[in-house]
Amino acid sequence: MTTDYPALLDPDWEAIAPADLARAEAEALRKQAEYVFEASPFYHRKFAEAGIEPEAIRSPEDLAKLPFTTKAELRESQEREPPFGDFLACDPTQVSRIHRTSGSTGQFVYTALSAADVDWTTRVGSRAFWAAGLRPHHRVVHCLNYQLWMGGYTDHANLERTGAAVMPFGVGNTKLLVRVIRDAGIDAISGTPSYPRVLENAVREELGIEPCELGLKLGLFGGEPALEDPAFRIHLEETWDMRARNANYGVSDILCNFASVCDHSEDLHYLGAGAMIPQLVDPETGEPIAIREGARGELVGTSINKQAQPLLRYRTRDVLEITGTGPCRCGRTGFRFRVVGRADDMLHVRGINVFPSGIAKVLTALRPAVTGEFQVVLDHPPPYEGLDVTVEEGEGAAEVERPALVARVSQALKAELNFTARLVLVPAGAIPRTEMGKAIRVKRGY
Ligand SMILES: [Zn+2]
Repeated sequence: MTTDYPALLDPDWEAIAPADLARAEAEALRKQAEYVFEASPFYHRKFAEAGIEPEAIRSPEDLAKLPFTTKAELRESQEREPPFGDFLACDPTQVSRIHRTSGSTGQFVYTALSAADVDWTTRVGSRAFWAAGLRPHHRVVHCLNYQLWMGGYTDHANLERTGAAVMPFGVGNTKLLVRVIRDAGIDAISGTPSYPRVLENAVREELGIEPCELGLKLGLFGGEPALEDPAFRIHLEETWDMRARNANYGVSDILCNFASVCDHSEDLHYLGAGAMIPQLVDPETGEPIAIREGARGELVGTSINKQAQPLLRYRTRDVLEITGTGPCRCGRTGFRFRVVGRADDMLHVRGINVFPSGIAKVLTALRPAVTGEFQVVLDHPPPYEGLDVTVEEGEGAAEVERPALVARVSQALKAELNFTARLVLVPAGAIPRTEMGKAIRVKRGY
């Protein structure tokens, strides 16, 4: 049954030759620059401030002539001209779907899509779920929050466009969820990678069976970096007897889901060809960085065919590391990457960039000797010579083991991240948690 399906859902774009892609991107970009200059007061102003006409944007390299666009500017624009801001470039009656995305500071942005924008969004999003293994014969239950957020309804549409049967579920009511998975013959689940952990007990208590007996064969995950830890992924796959795939990476302000793993790599493939031009910049200086293997930089995205809220040179604040370019064995030509962390969280230690997410990865690999939770304590502004890191020891750790554990954690941080940590061990659960139950990873005391 599965062998009848093509390997790529959208080969014209997913396997496009680099020269053809460059040509197509340049042509679409020229049209988009003219369109936003005419239709978006926000960008008309930006072009004027930069002293350029839209004709100056002939290729992606020319985008450097324009200033960046930031989330703060989008919020400011929407406060001034609610609800969509003056970066709305179409007639409001053309808006077909509205999401509200929350930021880490609690401020939010209204994201408007025209019917054509929805079509491109689902075209790209369905490539991602297909790359991760979803096929028309699957029945998938979608377990992300449908309220306002793009990960709910729009990812539902992305899943549906692969041809799979999609059951909308959202979050909460795990007892009902495990029942419908069993009763409706669901064999795939879409959600966050930490969610199956919550479901394990519900399966045992409600159905009296083990998770691996429930019938889930494919997990499509996103929104959290947990799957990048091989031990976590293997545990998940063994507990549920399913493939756990990192299938959903996007930046909702610009494109819902544009990256996923494939059968040949655990790194993410860039799959946004035709909808967005990806570029990298130094997160601090803003200087362009070429996309080549080993490069690290903040992702900057430019829409090339959007009608409602096209964004040019949008700073995502996500720092990526490029792990491969050129064709993959799956046939896709998009570059491969890992998400290193948020530029806003980056700490400088003796010229090295350290991300809290990197520390989390090292500590996760040392479980169960530690819980994996930690807190970096900053008592003065940068630069830093080393970092004070409070680490929670694992449950039931003995007093005598502490010096050896401190040495082990310090060595692992030095070896993996190349910085010196001054460690303090505390009991499990001692680090303050947020309302969401996550440890507060950076504490600034200045
Ligand atoms: Zn591939």
